[in-house]
Amino acid sequence: MSMNAAPDIDFSSEQGKANYEAARRQYPAQAIVDLRALRDNMRHLVDMVGGSDSPTAVMGVVKADAYGHGLLPAALAALAGGATWLGTAQSHEALLLRRLGIGADRCRILTWVYNGTAAPFDELIDNDIDVSVGSLPGIDAVAAAARELGKPARVHVKVDSGFGRNGFTPEGFEAALAKLVALGKEGTIEIVGQWSHLAVADSPDVPEFVASTQRQIDNFNEFTKRMEQAGIPPKIRHLANTAATLDRPEIHFDLTRPGIGLYGYEPDPAMGTPSKYGLKPAMRLVAQLGTVKGVEVGHGISYGRTYLTEEGTSTAIVPLGYADGIHRSASGFNIDGAKHVSKPGGPVRVMTKQGPKVFHVSGRVCMDQFILDLHGSAAELGVAEGDTVLLFGPGRGEEFGEPTADDWARAAGTISYEVFTCLRNRIPRLYEHAPEVLDASDLAKLDPASVL
Ligand SMILES: *Cc1c(COP(=O)(O)O)cnc(C)c1O
Repeated sequence: MSMNAAPDIDFSSEQGKANYEAARRQYPAQAIVDLRALRDNMRHLVDMVGGSDSPTAVMGVVKADAYGHGLLPAALAALAGGATWLGTAQSHEALLLRRLGIGADRCRILTWVYNGTAAPFDELIDNDIDVSVGSLPGIDAVAAAARELGKPARVHVKVDSGFGRNGFTPEGFEAALAKLVALGKEGTIEIVGQWSHLAVADSPDVPEFVASTQRQIDNFNEFTKRMEQAGIPPKIRHLANTAATLDRPEIHFDLTRPGIGLYGYEPDPAMGTPSKYGLKPAMRLVAQLGTVKGVEVGHGISYGRTYLTEEGTSTAIVPLGYADGIHRSASGFNIDGAKHVSKPGGPVRVMTKQGPKVFHVSGRVCMDQFILDLHGSAAELGVAEGDTVLLFGPGRGEEFGEPTADDWARAAGTISYEVFTCLRNRIPRLYEHAPEVLDASDLAKLDPASVL
């Protein structure tokens, strides 16, 4: 029997088990997403705004293939957890949600990133998808599509309260208001919302960040006043991301937009661990080892000889590389060289006869694989080809030695968001607890081969 360092999968049926076996044959790594965790995270976020009776609604942000978790399953789990809105950056994902069977009777959808001169506003309006407007050409394009279609566009006016990305600046807002008022009167657009995005995840320990968030809130309120004075008061105001949903109730307004919290992570490890916020990471990334072999002392490992074995040891190949989205910056070096300095690589939990151990990427991450130095004899450790190892999981406490996406982010010099969203779709996404979380009609929308 091969060793397994990952939490056991709670299969829903024999078919689920067979699906997992098929996925292992298809690819030597799997991303297992716990839909119960996604649902419960969303429930928790809904509770944070006062529950389902609260005047504040919650949007599940499912952009970028639901932060790599799979657009449709994550969206359905978010709805099961009480989200009444879904949000995507790119419009094609908003359209995809409708096409995959999440109708307008079910939830509102907002989308916000586009090239105003070529976006499919006609399709968006036709599919009852709310659109953001944050530029004058954007307003014109939305209006033209709505006129053509003979159906008003539901718009959310994006204001730049300090992020410096999308949205109208205070100086540019007068011209926008003039257009919006006229189009509203004409019935071409319905002004639904006013919104903006915060530049920093709440860091209560950094006074400079607290102050800049406060300035953004003040600016946001100032924009609202100007809309009211122009006779187009926004019905739905929204500003809060995950961080503000968790700990800034004064800016929950009518809707909050958590993303990373849905997937079980806090926005910034400086805030603490997910469990501190009642969140549970939903994804675990596992792989089955390739070649395991003994190597002598002083043997170079991987490209560039950035890692030399310090003793006679065994190495194991993890068949995931940067073409899978494993960051090359998570490589591990044990000697200094012309182009690198020593540092540990990304962590991997490996089961041994002596219990679970965490080993680190040794040498450079390659395109399709990386190498672990097992610091000992594989035979003595009981580690062999085919064993299942865990790159990251829910982070079950110290004693489990279970790495999280935050640990990988630290090793790669990035944030957990990028760790998930970079995972390529050649890694099968498989869903645990799907029949428990989804009703029969939603379950039927999933790829049956992805249900565990
Ligand atoms: C991504 C995004 C969010 C969600 O942010 P999190 O930090 O993941 O909660 C909210 N609003 C907008 C506009 C976004 O782009």
